[in-house]
This record gives sequence, structure tokens and C-alpha cells, in this order.
Amino acid sequence: MTNNVVNYVKKANYRENSPLSSLRDFAMKHDVPIVSDEVINLLNVLLSVSAPKTILELGSAIGYSAINFAMNSEACITTVELDEGAANIAIKNIGDLGYCDRITLVKGDADTVLDDLVSSGKKYDFIFIDAAKGQYLNYFKKCEYIINDGGIIFCDNILYKGLVSGVRSVRRNKTIAYRMKDFVDYVMENTDFKTTLLQSGDGVLISTKVDG
Ligand code: MG
Repeated sequence: MTNNVVNYVKKANYRENSPLSSLRDFAMKHDVPIVSDEVINLLNVLLSVSAPKTILELGSAIGYSAINFAMNSEACITTVELDEGAANIAIKNIGDLGYCDRITLVKGDADTVLDDLVSSGKKYDFIFIDAAKGQYLNYFKKCEYIINDGGIIFCDNILYKGLVSGVRSVRRNKTIAYRMKDFVDYVMENTDFKTTLLQSGDGVLISTKVDG
């Protein structure tokens, strides 16, 4: 896409006075990666048509997307964050906006939390994967056990262009990029799911579990 198209799409999806504007501004100011407006709007369309009762999010950051899920669905939301500082900010934001009753934040490693959820037999209607980018294949394979038939698994940052250079070494970036390609191949070839890869935001992979 040309820059003009990218900028137009960005502008068209932007809402200045969203209730989440202050969180978005905070994220911009402190360089916290949050879901783009385009992807938020796509998520909200999917929430509207799928009406999930339960949502699992891997990677809360400051709670921006979890709060958005609460605002745009009736679902009970479990969100998982490894970083203690981010988790504490998320808990405060969730409380400030009045969603403590529907959003539960679990501090911990997404991989371990998924193991616990698989053992518990609990299932979800909608899973948003936005945690460690090198672990998506691992996460997805575990999510296969806990997604309901007809449920949606939505994965963010698939194209990985948003990674800030210098934060991680080139070698590590390459490893993550290769892992992400393996992940996309795996999901695309998985006949238990219908899947699409879109350029939206930093790239999203959306899968729905085929009934049965
Ligand atoms: Mg993301």
C-alpha cells in the first residue's frame, strides 16, 4: 500500500474522543505498544457479530485492549500480563474505568497460564494473542484446546514491522520472523480453522474454529 492509502486508512479509523483516548495518549507518550485504531475497529466488528461470553487475552500491556473488549461486548475477560509494572498500570486503568467486575488480570507467563487453563478444561469464545512474538505457535497450539467451536482466535503483530530497532538484536528479530512464518504456515494449513491473514495494523491473523 502507498503511504497515502496507509495514512488515509489510519485517519479514517481514528476517533479523537474515544473513552480510551487517555490510555492511547499514555501509550504513545511512554512508547507502550498498543493495538492500532484500525485493528481496534476490526476487533469491535468481530465482537459485535460473534457476541462472545468469554474472552482470553494474552498480553494486557496497560489494559487498553482488555478495557476495549469490556466496552464492546458483554463478555467476562481474563487478561494475562507477565510484566509486573505494566500489569499494575493495567489493574489501575481497569479499576478507574469501572471494569473490575468483568476483567480479571492474571500476572504471569502466558505459556504457564495456558497450561493451567488447558488442565482446568475452561473454554473461551474469543482469544486475543498479543504476548511474546516468538511464542505464537506454542500459544496457538495450546489455545486449540480451550477455544469453543465457532470461536475466534485473533493474533496481533503478525507482520512484525512494529518492532523497534535496537531493542533486540538483528539475529533475534530474524529468529522471531522465521518463527512467525512457521506459525502462519501452521495455522493456514490447519483444517480445524478458517483463517485469514490481513495487513491491518502490524498484521493480524484471524482464525475461527470450525464446528465439530
Ligand atoms: Mg500488539
